[in-house]
Amino acid sequence: MIVDAHLDLAFNVTRGRDVTQPAERQPVVDNEIATVGLPDLLEGRVGLVCATIFCEPRTSVFPGGYTTPDEAMAIASTQLQWYEQQFTARRLIPVRRAGEVPRQFDGRTHAILLLEGADAIRGLQDVHHFYDAGVRVVGLAWKRTAHAGGTGEPGGLSELGRQTATQLDELGFVHDASHLAEQAFWDLLELTAGPVIASHSNCRTLVPTDRQLSDEMIRAIASRGGVIGINFFHKFLLPPAELGTRPATFADVIAHVKHVCDVLGSARHVAIGTDLDGGLGRGQVPQEIHTIADLHKLADALHDGGFGDEDIHRILSENWIGFFAAHLPK
Ligand SMILES: [Zn+2]
Repeated sequence: MIVDAHLDLAFNVTRGRDVTQPAERQPVVDNEIATVGLPDLLEGRVGLVCATIFCEPRTSVFPGGYTTPDEAMAIASTQLQWYEQQFTARRLIPVRRAGEVPRQFDGRTHAILLLEGADAIRGLQDVHHFYDAGVRVVGLAWKRTAHAGGTGEPGGLSELGRQTATQLDELGFVHDASHLAEQAFWDLLELTAGPVIASHSNCRTLVPTDRQLSDEMIRAIASRGGVIGINFFHKFLLPPAELGTRPATFADVIAHVKHVCDVLGSARHVAIGTDLDGGLGRGQVPQEIHTIADLHKLADALHDGGFGDEDIHRILSENWIGFFAAHLPK
């Protein structure tokens, strides 16, 4: 079984893709060739994913985005509804509790809902709303939100962010640190005792931007038992000088995996969070990937890269399985 801790399935539905179809039958959107459809997940034995509710703020390049928390909530509700339809149709199986985490591939794709960017959370009531709806992981930022500084927009946790983080802790949510600005990251770790992951983040030592994790951040996540999912977007894989000069490959994914292992001295806290459908397409991911069904080929590449069977198993599934089995509500 393969576990992928970051896919933006419902977001792609709102962009006009029928994600219930294989990627090959989905339309090209914004020049991106789709690589993810639910049938591809099954073909690739991707048995567990973190599936996001991703609300994008309005910008000149994304005029359909939200400008107020109420609009963010409306977008979140639309995406949540799509997941509920998939759960009802048994095209995806919801995972809300530790006991529901699959241990091996059972012919179905299970999904943990992850709210990426928390502007839809307007107060305590909304924290409860998302919990009751089955969301179990929350990233307070994408770019800056009302809660926290984010990618490309530095800053710490706001007062609202502090309240929200504490409320999330009380209900047992997992925090996703992937898009937190550096200051917000450290604020969060100081404030909360809850489990922290980076669902889709790479190493700043290899790709020096604020979207990646410094070695100190990698150590801090691991010291709490968290896991880091390596992101497959070429811009986050390739050293800036090589971006645009060659396609990314599995060797680049493995360089980031190796770096996390080197920093921590083990392969217990690194896995994958591919982001394969996060506003990118086949041209922006490792060239070995035609669709997400090709993820299993990473096992051979890891083997060739010197990883043993046990570590490969950890990286492709067991680290996430162990994390969620330990940290989702009982
Ligand atoms: Zn993201």
